[in-house]
Amino acid sequence: MNAPEPAAALQSEPTTGGATGTTHSADPFVHHAPIAARIDWLFRLADRHGQAFRGPDSWLARERYLARHPTAVAALKCMDGRVNLSVATQTPVGILMPFRNLGGMFNLGWPHLGEILTQYVMDRVREGRRVLLLITYHWSRGDPLRGCAGFHYNREASMAHAWAIREQVRQLFGQDSSTVYPLVCGFETDQEALLLHSAHGQSLNMADEGTGATHEELQQQVAALLPDMPGPMRADLLPLLQGNLRHVAHLRTLAERRERDLVTEHREWAICLGRGFDFLHTPNTALIVGPYSPDLAHPIRTAAQIIQDNMKQGRIPDDGFLLLASVPYDTLGVERARAELKARFMGQFAAGVIAEAFPALAERMHRHTAVLDWSARRLEFVSPT
Ligand SMILES: [Zn+2]
Repeated sequence: MNAPEPAAALQSEPTTGGATGTTHSADPFVHHAPIAARIDWLFRLADRHGQAFRGPDSWLARERYLARHPTAVAALKCMDGRVNLSVATQTPVGILMPFRNLGGMFNLGWPHLGEILTQYVMDRVREGRRVLLLITYHWSRGDPLRGCAGFHYNREASMAHAWAIREQVRQLFGQDSSTVYPLVCGFETDQEALLLHSAHGQSLNMADEGTGATHEELQQQVAALLPDMPGPMRADLLPLLQGNLRHVAHLRTLAERRERDLVTEHREWAICLGRGFDFLHTPNTALIVGPYSPDLAHPIRTAAQIIQDNMKQGRIPDDGFLLLASVPYDTLGVERARAELKARFMGQFAAGVIAEAFPALAERMHRHTAVLDWSARRLEFVSPT
C-alpha cells in the first residue's frame, strides 16, 4: 500500500473542481491514507464546499440561474457517489434537489419520503414554479459490473423500477404532468451521459455524437421526444442537457489524454446517512443512505456489506470506516433541536444495525453526528449520544 504520509496527505486537495468542476483525479489519498486522515479530509471538503456555497460568486450564480430557469428540478437517484448530476450537467450546486437511496429505490407510499417530496413540491408550486422530477437509474456501457450494485447490476430491473416510480408520481401529482413532470433518465457512468426516455419508447442519448450539435437542433430533438412537457419546462431542461453535452465532451478529451481513470470498482469507506451530502463530489468515497425507507436497516446493511467487501478485497485500508449521520434544518430553535434528535437517532440506529450484522466491522466504526444548516450548507457536529 502506498499511503502518503498523513502530514503530506493532509495537504492533498479534494478531487472536485468547484461548483461545476469535474470529479476525476487519480489522487489515491482518499482511498489509501489512514482512516483519521481520510475523515479529516472529508470534513475539510465539507467545510470548503460550505464556504464556496456561501460566497457571493456562488450565490450570484445560483440567483442568476434561478431567475433565468424557474423550473425547480429534483432528482431521485442511487446512493452511488458516481451519480452526481450537478457535476455531470455543469449546473451550479444547490439548483438540483437530490433524493438519494440504495439503488435509486423509492416508493412514494413510504410515509417519510411521501411527506418530504410532497412538501418540496407544494413549496415550489406556491412559489409559482413547476417541478421537473428526474427519476434516474444508472449503468455502465463498458462493464455490467460497473452498474448498480443495488439492483445486482441488472439494468432492466432498475429501469422497470424507474417507470414504476413515474406511475406513482402521476398518481400523486396528476396524469397530465403540467405542473410536476416525471422524466425517466438513465445515467451511463463511464461517460457520465444522460439518456432521456419518452413514455413511448423513444430515447435521446447525450453520449451520441449526433445529439444536439447546435442549440436549435437539441431544442428540436427534445421537443420531438417530449411533446407533452410544458414549453417553459423544456426550456429549463435544455441547459442541463447542454451542460451534460459539454461535460461528456470534456471527459472524452481527458480520456484521450489518458488523464481520466474509469472508476472500475467500489472503494467506498464512508456511510453517510441522512440528507445534505452534496459536498461529496468524489466518486466511490461514500455510500449515501437517505432516511426514506421504512426499512432503514436494509440499505444500511447493504452499505456496510459493500464496505466490508472493500476491506476484504484490499481496495481500501482495513483500519476503519466512517459512519456520518447528518440531518438538515432550515430554521433555528425547535427545528434545529429536532434535527439533532433525528441525527442522533439515525446514527445510533445505524450503529446498532451494523454491530448486529457485521460485529467485526463495527469495531472499526468511526461515528460522527451532525446537523446541517441548510441555507449555509454548514455542517455542525453534535455529540453522538
Ligand atoms: Zn446504484
